[in-house]
Amino acid sequence: MSTLLEVSGVSVSFDGFKAINNLSFTIGSAELRAIIGPNGAGKTTFMDIITGKTKPDEGRVVWGDLSRSLLGMSEAKIAQAGIGRKFQKPTVFEDQSVEENLVMALKSKRGPFAALFYKRSSDDMSRVDELADEINLADQLHRKAGELSHGQKQWLEIGMLLAQDPQLLLVDEPAAGMTPAEREHTTALLVEAAKTCAVVVVEHDMEFVRRLNCRVTVLHEGAVLAEGSLDHVTSNQEVIDVYLGR
Ligand code: ADP
Repeated sequence: MSTLLEVSGVSVSFDGFKAINNLSFTIGSAELRAIIGPNGAGKTTFMDIITGKTKPDEGRVVWGDLSRSLLGMSEAKIAQAGIGRKFQKPTVFEDQSVEENLVMALKSKRGPFAALFYKRSSDDMSRVDELADEINLADQLHRKAGELSHGQKQWLEIGMLLAQDPQLLLVDEPAAGMTPAEREHTTALLVEAAKTCAVVVVEHDMEFVRRLNCRVTVLHEGAVLAEGSLDHVTSNQEVIDVYLGR
C-alpha cells in the first residue's frame, strides 16, 4: 500500500497552548483508520490541519505522490484535490430528494463552471443508483432528505462525499446518535468505502471502532500516543492511564 498522506513534525498553538505538538502521522491509499483519544486530545484540530482550516506553526503535510504540500492551499483547493470531510452533524439539502442530493454532489465534482451547464447523463444516473445501494437508501431515492432518520441523513452525506470520488475521507463520529442497526450498516459502508479511498474515522464509541477492525491511532496532548490494533492500543498502560485520567 502506498502512502497517501504524510504529516510530519506538525505543531499548532492557540494563545501559547500547544494543541498539536510535533505530530507525525501517515496513512496509506485505501486504508481504513480510526483515531481515538480523550476530549481535548487534538483530534478536531488535526482534521482542521489536513483540510486547510487551521494552518500549523511548523511541520510538513504532503499528499498524493508526497511531493505536493497541502500547506498554503485553501480549504476549497484541498477539497478539490480529493479530501472530503464529514462533520458530526449531517448537512444535506433537506428540501431536496435523496436522488437530487446525490445528483448535486456529482455535479459539484465538475467544478462551479461546468456545473452551470450540467445535464444528467445515464452514466451519472447509474452512479446515483450505485451510491444509493451502497448507502442503503435505494428505496428512498424520491424521499425528501429532511424526512430521513438521523442515520439515513448521515449515510446520504457520506454518499454525497463518495460521489465526488475522494482519495481521502475524514469522518467525525459517524455512529453518534445511531440505532444499533444503523451503526451496523455504517460500519459496512465505511469498510466498503475504504476499498476505493482512504478513510479516517474519529470515534469515541469503542464498540464501533472494534467493528471497523482497522488500525487505530491514539492521540493525546496533540501527539500520537500509540498506534496498532484496538487490542494492542487498549492494552498499552499509557493509553489506559490517559483514559482513566491518571
Ligand atoms: P478533540 O477534538 O480531541 O477534543 P480539539 O482539537 O478540539 O480536541 O482541541 C485540542 C485542544 O486545543 C483543546 O485543549 C482545545 O481547547 C484547544 N483548542 C482547539 N481549538 C482552539 C481554538 N480555536 N482556540 C483556542 N484553543 C483551541
